[in-house]
Amino acid sequence: MGRIKNKNTQPEVKIRSIIHRMGFRFRLNRLDLPGKPDIVLPKYHKVIFVNGCFWHGHLNCPRGKRPTTNIDFWSKKLDANILRDTKNVDLLKKLGWDVLVLWQCELNNEKIILARINDYFNINNNL
Ligand SMILES: [Zn+2]
Repeated sequence: MGRIKNKNTQPEVKIRSIIHRMGFRFRLNRLDLPGKPDIVLPKYHKVIFVNGCFWHGHLNCPRGKRPTTNIDFWSKKLDANILRDTKNVDLLKKLGWDVLVLWQCELNNEKIILARINDYFNINNNL
């Protein structure tokens, strides 16, 4: 089976506190939704994932770089993760949820995070 997701990693806590300060109320880890989004805002039909760059294959990101040993093993594993992420996003959208993915490497820049969350709440049809 897949890896076990740590439910209270620092990045998630950080994002939650930012969203909380912005005045939005949310629920944590609703298990009934595809991909178990890190943050669920039922009132707005929006979910947020906080993705680790390595495990979720952040493109053009130093932390998303793949190992250069055991290439077959890692390709299979990481490709499967990415495929699963894509499927979950599709499913969520079909169920009427907007989806925002934030990346681990963005979290040190609070300005970027604030801007992305602001955009997310101001645009109804977020890709
Ligand atoms: Zn990254």
